[in-house]
Amino acid sequence: MAGQINAFEMAQKQFDGVAKLLNLDPQIAEILRWPMREYSFRIPIRMDDGTIRVFQGYRVQHNDSRGPNKGGIRFHPNETFDTVRALATWMTWKCAVADIPLGGGKGGIIVDPSSLTTPEKERLCRGWVQNMWKNIGPRQDVPAPDVGTTPQMMGWMMDEYSKLVGEYTPGVFTGKPLGGGGSEGRTEATGYGVIYTVREAMAHLKLDPTKCVAAIEGFGNVAQYAAIGFIEMLGGKVACVSCWDRNDKTSYTYSHKDGIDPRFLLTITDQYGTIDQKKAKDAGYVIEDGEKWIEKECDVLIPAAIEGHVNADTVQKISSRVKIVAEGANGPCTPEADEYFKKNGIFDIPDFLCNAGGVTTSYFESVQNDMNYYWTKKEVLERLDTKMTSAFHAVLDMSQKEGVYMRDAAYMVAIDRVVKAMQLRGWS
Ligand code: NAD
Repeated sequence: MAGQINAFEMAQKQFDGVAKLLNLDPQIAEILRWPMREYSFRIPIRMDDGTIRVFQGYRVQHNDSRGPNKGGIRFHPNETFDTVRALATWMTWKCAVADIPLGGGKGGIIVDPSSLTTPEKERLCRGWVQNMWKNIGPRQDVPAPDVGTTPQMMGWMMDEYSKLVGEYTPGVFTGKPLGGGGSEGRTEATGYGVIYTVREAMAHLKLDPTKCVAAIEGFGNVAQYAAIGFIEMLGGKVACVSCWDRNDKTSYTYSHKDGIDPRFLLTITDQYGTIDQKKAKDAGYVIEDGEKWIEKECDVLIPAAIEGHVNADTVQKISSRVKIVAEGANGPCTPEADEYFKKNGIFDIPDFLCNAGGVTTSYFESVQNDMNYYWTKKEVLERLDTKMTSAFHAVLDMSQKEGVYMRDAAYMVAIDRVVKAMQLRGWS
């Protein structure tokens, strides 16, 4: 997405549309259309060969009326100030719709992390913190991993911050490794969160989950646990998953006549979400073109791989049986797909509600860091279920009360909550 369309203009356009629906005071809208604070800085790093390379870093804090800013740090060669601005804005709405007391932030460095050695990566992580440490912290802004960054990198960043402030401060970064201040349940959180919202949507539509079939795009962190949850929590069947094969640079759909077994597929999938074709074939899986997932006969579509794959062309191919689309990925459905859903009475669970389980569990991680007391996985997942279920119903209620589509309703709930917090604090 970065570099092709201006994501920030898109985020502002979406906001303007909802501001109109909410009849928002133009002065308040003017505050929310732009991030509150933006940081742009250069990070000189000594490379292993002794030369110095200078990297461009960013952090954007969109709005902290509801609590400290929250959002990932991306290491990506196509990162721009505008993608970071857009993602920070969307984080404000995601935290608000999930009703966690956090604002929206995002950061990044223009870099291809695979071009760096491990010590170079560590120096770059520490360099980012050396620039930002005065403006982040458990009460100010709490970054997390994102595209191109890992739990290990969060560990280095937390260490650098703790050294600079002179005290152990695990709550400054989330997404840390287990045993290094991370939370139980974070691995499952986003995928299971998707399934909690699917379960509520099924109850609303009076569908029997045990008679429902899902088709899932992707088999990375989100898709894996969405598939497991759909089968183990709801008793449904998963017709297929898909993945991008890193070896032959093509995407494939994997299906099985009895429905896929995600726990088995996990044992033959690498850390990047690529499934071993030979082992899958040996176990009776049918491997087809990567776009086939969208055509499968199913009741629930879960795009959980990449943005924009459910679009004007592909949406025409979905089965007439589909009743729910659960957006596990960020931005998987284009406005044309939305129009199709509306016309065909398909119930859409928008991304920033559907995949909010990740950030909600990150919030739980910082709460546990603050207490220096850690919950069991069962406790984390129960709390997550409560949060996701109540977020889903707040959006559904808004959708029914105002007669608007779920995506608009989610924006309305989120923006309304942020505006209320601003008013309570006397910002407007
Ligand atoms: P991941 O990197 O673990 O997995 C991505 C999966 O998508 C892999 O199986 C990969 O093979 C597959 N894929 C990539 N390109 C594809 C293509 N062209 N066709 C088919 N499959 C393709 O990523 P993830 O963490 O599961 O994230 C997936 C989506 O969910 C992203 O949009 C991400 O931003 C969003 N998301 C993730 C989280 C989280 O906690 N992991 C939270 C919120 C949103």
